[in-house]
Amino acid sequence: MSLRIGVIGVGYLGQHHARIFAELEHVQLAGVSDTNTARADEIAAQYGCASFGDWEELVGQCDAVSIVTPTTTHHEIALACLKAGKDVFIEKPITENLQEARELISEADAGSRILQIGHLERYNPAVVTAAELIHEPRFIEAERLSPFLGRGTDVDITLDLMIHDIDIVTGFVQSEVKSISATGDRVLTGKIDAAKAWLEFENGCKALITASRLASEKVRRLKIHQQDTYISVDYQTQEVRKYYKGANGIAFDVIRPESREPLKEELKDFVSCVLGRSCPRVSGREATQALEIVLQINEMLKQ
Ligand code: NAD
Repeated sequence: MSLRIGVIGVGYLGQHHARIFAELEHVQLAGVSDTNTARADEIAAQYGCASFGDWEELVGQCDAVSIVTPTTTHHEIALACLKAGKDVFIEKPITENLQEARELISEADAGSRILQIGHLERYNPAVVTAAELIHEPRFIEAERLSPFLGRGTDVDITLDLMIHDIDIVTGFVQSEVKSISATGDRVLTGKIDAAKAWLEFENGCKALITASRLASEKVRRLKIHQQDTYISVDYQTQEVRKYYKGANGIAFDVIRPESREPLKEELKDFVSCVLGRSCPRVSGREATQALEIVLQINEMLKQ
C-alpha cells in the first residue's frame, strides 16, 4: 500500500519536498497546493500529480501532509490537518510562538498522529559524523550566513536561520541553558536581519552563534572545542576536520562521510515513522525546545 502524501506550499523548498516524495518508495505524491495556483500547476505538472489552490481540498486526498508554507501560516494549517486525522511534517520552525507549538503537540498526542519538524541539519552526514567525535564540548562557534534572498522574511533571522544551530548545539551540549546574551540589527526587512547570541550552559560549555541574511556569501560552519580536540564541520561540503596536538604542532584528519541529501534522508525518515508509527528524530517537543531558546534570544534582542 502506498502512503498518499500532499505538499502544501511549493515555493523554494516545497518544490524539493514534491520531488523527493515523487521519488520515494511506498509513497504516492497525492498532490500539491499553493496559493499561487500557477506555481502549484507548474510543480504538479513536473511531478505528475494533482494541483490544488485550496490546501483544504488537498488534505482530503491524503494520509499525511508536508507543510512548507511561510512560518506564520504553520499553526493554522497544521492544526487543521491534525484535526482531520493526518500525520504532519512541518518545516522549521514549528510555529512562531510557544502557545501555538504546544497546541499542535497536544492535538497530535490526542489523535496519536505523527508530528515531525524539519530541522534537516540533524540528517546532514557531517553532523552525524561529528556527533560521534564529540564527548565534552567546552566552546562551540556556529556561523550561518546568507546573502539577502528575500525569503523567510516573515520572521526574524533567529527563527529563520539561527534555530538550525540552536538545535544542533543544544543537542551536542546536553545541558540546560543557564544564560543568554544577544545582539542584532534590523536593516532591510523591519525584522532582525543579523544576530549574534552567546549561550552559557549549566555544565560550563559556552556557545557563540551568528546568523545573518546580509552576508556577501553563503557560510554554514560549526567549530567545537573540547579537551584534546577541536572539530570543524562544513554543513555545505559535508566535510568534518578533527584537529589535535601532533608531534610537530597542530595536526588534523579530514573526514568525508558518504554524501547524502539531508532533506531526502529526513523525508524518508518521516515516511518510515508514519508507516511504523514510531517517534520522529525531531518531534514537536524537540523542535519546541529550540523554539523556546530562540524566543528567549528574541526577548534579549528587544531589550
Ligand atoms: P517560499 O516563500 O519560497 O515558499 C512558500 C510558498 O508557500 C509560496 O509558494 C507561497 O505562495 C505558498 N503559500 C503561502 N501561504 C500559503 C497557504 N496558506 N497555502 C498554500 N500555500 C501558501 O518559502 P520557503 O523558503 O520555501 O520557506 C517555506 C518554509 O520552509 C518556511 O517555514 C521556512 O522556514 C522553511 N525553510 C526551511 C529550510 C530548511 O533548511 N529546513 C530552508 C528554507 C525554508
